[in-house]
Amino acid sequence: MALINENFYKLRSSYLFPEVRRRVAHFTDQRPGLNITNLGMGDVVLPLASTVTAAMKAAVEELESPDTFKGYGPVQGYDFLRNAILEQDYASRGVQLSPDEIFISEGSKSDCGNLQELFSVDARVAIADPVYPVYVDSNVMAGRTGVLRADRRYERLVYLPCREETGFVPEPPSETVDFVYLCSPNNPTGAVMNRQQLTDWVRWAQRTHAILLFDAAYEAFIGDADLPHSIYEIDGARVCAIEMRSFSKSAGFTGVRCGFTVIPKDVMGYGSDGKGTSLHSLWSRRYATKYNGTSYIVQRGAAAVYTPAGRKETSVQVAFYMDNARIMRQKLLQMGFQVWGGENAPYVWMATKGSKSSWDFFDRMLAEALVIGTPGIGFGPSGEGYYRLSAFSMREGLEDALIRIERAFG
Ligand code: PLP
Repeated sequence: MALINENFYKLRSSYLFPEVRRRVAHFTDQRPGLNITNLGMGDVVLPLASTVTAAMKAAVEELESPDTFKGYGPVQGYDFLRNAILEQDYASRGVQLSPDEIFISEGSKSDCGNLQELFSVDARVAIADPVYPVYVDSNVMAGRTGVLRADRRYERLVYLPCREETGFVPEPPSETVDFVYLCSPNNPTGAVMNRQQLTDWVRWAQRTHAILLFDAAYEAFIGDADLPHSIYEIDGARVCAIEMRSFSKSAGFTGVRCGFTVIPKDVMGYGSDGKGTSLHSLWSRRYATKYNGTSYIVQRGAAAVYTPAGRKETSVQVAFYMDNARIMRQKLLQMGFQVWGGENAPYVWMATKGSKSSWDFFDRMLAEALVIGTPGIGFGPSGEGYYRLSAFSMREGLEDALIRIERAFG
């Protein structure tokens, strides 16, 4: 008899998006043939930049020849990509890293889910609420959270409620925790932490010896020149922060799969004997055991994003999505909704005016405006009363959806 990891029983009954799909399928079964606009998923709609596909095609051809064929690559990633990241994402912002502090991955979701393996099962975890659900669920599976209480909170997790009053930005907890997930620009609220807020977090982490797991999957959507793109733009972050990034939304790689995680060698964790170990060495060991490197073809495609043509083409894509966000924001504000985000992030967060719950609002948007969004409660208990719209859509579909929302709710 194979005994299972019973922590899986503690997960909420269904992950957010399967429940969204179930409700949409139920609705379309009853009313087939309707033209529904999906503004719920954070998946890109624009095709890859031609510079990226050209680089991937050239890489495929290299694999055809015995002289340029590649087998297993360097597990942490090829230098051509790590050096491009180092120079253009970090050195250009005054951040000094070494190439071996960058771990290329097949995307950020697995990094977000796997990094918790570095910490003891007894470690205390703090999580901004609402937030990307992967942080919570991966800690549930690892057995770090205890059970889900009736108030929809796990008993051992420390929740950092992100409220309207603080611009949906989480504040450091008063209790001691070992590590904390921060996501800025935030999915789902679209809130972005400013320099002072990030500095407060870094000072807190230095003081309490906690580690910040900083998810910057949406940094490319930051337009305001004053807002930091990386946690390492803050002095002292090298000793207390790990940063995750992704090519998914910034370059359309949701299907291609590529991301990376930065672990400076100064970030330390501690054994029960109080002995310090660099988290970089643990992650390298884990990588060597559980990963065999991101595909050469994909890494060539990602490196092409950093060429002048690649930069230009991908920034046009980002600008397109941010125009969508601006249009959504403006229209929804005109309709009298309370709206946040969508200025330096591709998500618009709105209050579910007049609805009993965020799922109720989801059902109304679907039935009355034929729009699929995402109910805030799916991102954590403090998401109740809110609803997320994603800017990843074609313009025409978005404009039609806004007209229908206006008719139904305006
Ligand atoms: N982090 C956040 C906050 C996200 O919203 C997402 C995807 O939606 C990811 C990470 C994962 O991105 P990837 O496609 O690189 O796995």
